[in-house]
Amino acid sequence: MQTRDLSSHSPYVPGRGIEEVARDLGMDPDELIKLSSNENPHGSSPKAAAAVIDATETTGLHVYPKASHTDLTAAIADQWDVAAEQVWLTPGADGAIDLLSRAFLEPGDGILEPDPGFSYYSMSARYHHGTARTYDLSKAAEFAQTAELVLEAYEGERMVYLTTPHNPTGSEFSREAIETIADGVDEHTLVVIDEAYGEYSQRPSSIELVDDHENLAVLRTFSKAYGLAGLRIGYAVVPSEWADAYARVNTPFAANDLACRAALAALDDQTHVERSIETARWARGYMRENLDAKTWDSAGNFVLADVGDAETVAARSQARGVIIRDCTSFGLPECVRISCGTEAETKTAVETLNTILAEVSVQP
Ligand code: PMP
Repeated sequence: MQTRDLSSHSPYVPGRGIEEVARDLGMDPDELIKLSSNENPHGSSPKAAAAVIDATETTGLHVYPKASHTDLTAAIADQWDVAAEQVWLTPGADGAIDLLSRAFLEPGDGILEPDPGFSYYSMSARYHHGTARTYDLSKAAEFAQTAELVLEAYEGERMVYLTTPHNPTGSEFSREAIETIADGVDEHTLVVIDEAYGEYSQRPSSIELVDDHENLAVLRTFSKAYGLAGLRIGYAVVPSEWADAYARVNTPFAANDLACRAALAALDDQTHVERSIETARWARGYMRENLDAKTWDSAGNFVLADVGDAETVAARSQARGVIIRDCTSFGLPECVRISCGTEAETKTAVETLNTILAEVSVQP
């Protein structure tokens, strides 16, 4: 028995988990600071946790999600002033990427994605028998994301991904650039704007553009600012012209009941979201000012830093209890990505990294 040819598929490389690292180092997970997966250092909203416990004790876990899916969809539609059918609830933004691939890609169709960039765009395209090409962000140009860069690389692909704020660099597209791209691609091309880190940005969401651009879809997630990464819940907002495709491509009940209820409660806890955003904005500024390495301006909840040899620095940092992301898998073997922690975590991380950078630089 053999699978189909998966040789062009590369596995997703996640940041390392805290229990995993603690076990390797023989340390207590509580002694570790995990800044490798852009998670929310304040955890989830207590209201979200209470909603999960309440659902477990009342409705129970044995029923398929129905009302919770409808209620969350309505709340998101209300938040963005769109119709409920324009909101595609999915298991994480990753799930939204898959549904858009399913809805748009015929075998052999191509996608255009940023390099460096989030690896799941091309993974999903390949799962759906598609192919992937890249537009290359230039380190020398501060990883600037411009319409020219995308349109020059564009060769009529069926889907074009724009990540803003961008992972792992933190750079953004301007509103003008997004509109230029949406207007500049062929009629059959869907432009997907990935706003997984949108809450941390000062710019308005491209969801505002969806009603005027039939070829735009915007991705959002509850994994980051809402602190619900473990529950896997996100969504796409799509134009009403083709919004009904959701029912034809969705996996039945893919957005689970507890996740929907938690997300609904999290939406209702603006204090928690605002605190999360405020901490991230403070932490990225602190890292930019205090890390003894070249860093880039970031609109996300992380900072990219050029440390010379990322593998060595990330390994040493981990050995001292601070887990950061080695960006070799992003094609940046000289860079690490450090997620924004609490104030105390961020300060410890900067101090630890600066000690390591000083040690590394004095070595022959
Ligand atoms: N897009 C980008 C750019 C990301 O970095 C991530 C998560 N790392 C996602 C999408 C997916 O997030 P999730 O599936 O947890 O919502």
